[in-house]
Amino acid sequence: MDLLIKNARIPDHDATVDVAVEGDRITAVESSIDAESTRTIDAGGKVLIPALIESHIHLDKAFIMDRLPNKSGTLKEAIAGTAKLKPTFTKEDVVERATAALKMLVRNGSTIMRTHAEFDKAQGFTGFETVMELKDRFKDIMDVQVVAFPQEGIFKSEGVEQMMSEAMDAGADVVGGIPYNDAPADEHIDFVFKLAEKYGKPIDFHQDFKDDADNMTIEYICDKTIADGYQGRVSVGHLTALAAVEPAERDRIIAKMAEAQISVMCLPATDLHLGARNDAYNMRRAVTPVRALRDGGVNVCLATNNIRNLFTPYGTGDLFQVAALAIPVCHLGGADDLPTVLPMMTDNAAKALGIENYGIAAGNQADMVLLDSDSIATCVIDIPERLFVIKRGRVIVETKKEIVTAF
Ligand SMILES: [Zn+2]
Repeated sequence: MDLLIKNARIPDHDATVDVAVEGDRITAVESSIDAESTRTIDAGGKVLIPALIESHIHLDKAFIMDRLPNKSGTLKEAIAGTAKLKPTFTKEDVVERATAALKMLVRNGSTIMRTHAEFDKAQGFTGFETVMELKDRFKDIMDVQVVAFPQEGIFKSEGVEQMMSEAMDAGADVVGGIPYNDAPADEHIDFVFKLAEKYGKPIDFHQDFKDDADNMTIEYICDKTIADGYQGRVSVGHLTALAAVEPAERDRIIAKMAEAQISVMCLPATDLHLGARNDAYNMRRAVTPVRALRDGGVNVCLATNNIRNLFTPYGTGDLFQVAALAIPVCHLGGADDLPTVLPMMTDNAAKALGIENYGIAAGNQADMVLLDSDSIATCVIDIPERLFVIKRGRVIVETKKEIVTAF
């Protein structure tokens, strides 16, 4: 075999296991495997998880926060400022920034991602086309799904309607949308569904990103999803407005979302930064109600969204740090809640993105991360070093460090 990982602690197993890899596949997961291997890694009881999945990010607009700082910290200024900057992007510029973001993610253990890539008449397809090229260039370290994303709206931004079809013709994997930044919102949603159905692709909306519950369209999306038979193929990011809906009504909406099998990407780094800016005191958390969604049977993921731009002026590309935010903010630190956090960055994300052959089991793609943690139960709060990142059976990151202490 090509790679043998000995004595690894994996989710849902009490005892440690050995994991055998041949080529790009896991071929065996057993209590003990003794066989010749090109490379053997002794995990020494450390935690081995399926590779992290970054289910919602924007590579094309990472690392631009210093070019036109968002001084109010509002969504409005983030959108307006970014719209001013986008026409100044060159291909070389996007390559440099997006590559840096992608490599950060890989170093931190993400080997599968969904990135939203935007376009409009002012910037043309510079960002989108560059991300499509990077998807191919980095295919050996990251599986990338590209979302055709109309950040400036489809109808209110001239030419974007046509560009959406062109982006799909150019090979976009997912049809994106942003009903709250377009009018009429229901026609925006109808357009996205029609395009997705034409190309046979899944849908991913930026959805109901507000502190209050006005003008929400998530129910319209649920109805449309069910009517069109698109259950399990629609995701929404943000959905912060749902946190402002009183519980009985909220749970009625959640039941509809569960029926429509809509996945939710919770984006706490952005939502905490931009949300509740009008609350002079007693500030809301302005993050989607993760526990209520989870308990209502909705598939919930945690994701980064942005790295160091006008929407989120920080970030390291480490999903464990996103979890570290979500755990207190979403009340996920309790004994029954903490075990549900890691799946939000692994199994749930795989389900949302339609990733098959995922997870540490024979026959699956060998994408794994060995963590410097001894406990499945607490590995998320350890924010551990990623000792090895393995992509399709190949070690692509290896952390070597020596810590010298005087105590
Ligand atoms: Zn986003």
